[in-house]
Amino acid sequence: MSRRDEILEEMGLAPVWRLRESKEETVPAAAFPEGKGGEEEKTQDWIRLKEAVPACTACALHKGRKQTVFGVGDENADWLLVGEAPGAEEDRLGEPFVGQAGRLLDNMLAAIDLSRGDNVYIANVLKCRPPGNRNPEPEEVAKCTPYLQRQIGLIQPKLIVAMGRFAAQTLLNTDASIASLRGRLHSYAGVPLIVTYHPAYLLRNLPDKAKAWADLVFAIKTMNQIKDKKPDPDL
Ligand code: URA
Repeated sequence: MSRRDEILEEMGLAPVWRLRESKEETVPAAAFPEGKGGEEEKTQDWIRLKEAVPACTACALHKGRKQTVFGVGDENADWLLVGEAPGAEEDRLGEPFVGQAGRLLDNMLAAIDLSRGDNVYIANVLKCRPPGNRNPEPEEVAKCTPYLQRQIGLIQPKLIVAMGRFAAQTLLNTDASIASLRGRLHSYAGVPLIVTYHPAYLLRNLPDKAKAWADLVFAIKTMNQIKDKKPDPDL
């Protein structure tokens, strides 16, 4: 059995799902203008951002955190995955998606031949853990989102995958449901964006793993089209 088949089996998806080539959807080349700021300026911006986040006291969450969880991965990644907020393990270790949901995320990435850090960046909407893993409050999201926006501006990913309601609703500035946002190509500041379920939700709702797999297949096809630079007249 191949590594991908093993992973899909572990996810409860084998042997049904396979990546297939598709010629249907097309998307534009990614979004941010070329040549904004030089490499040196970008490096300085990353440094400033990495200093600003751990020092942030903009909302009450800073009082309960062990540490901020900035984000992890390739700062020039084509793929940006956005989750909700750190949980207990992430708060302890300072890295996003290191708990049970993170293991599922790593398996999902492996199923499409990706891994964290390798052309992939992972970040959350909130950089601090909400107490008791409660949902983020609107004010916390409002205060924290500029950090994510800056990360997106610096990474300039080719595709954003918003995982779960908070990431999707924050980045798309909507209160629409995940169900209504899935399966379509959206855009955040000109960057193509795809919505899927949050891995923690999938751990509680196993039948929806098949839908998440369909979202990943859509994401892969979209990325391939972006790299082919086929223009999308609808975007
Ligand atoms: N859930 C998230 O949304 N982010 C993490 O980093 C961990 C769990």
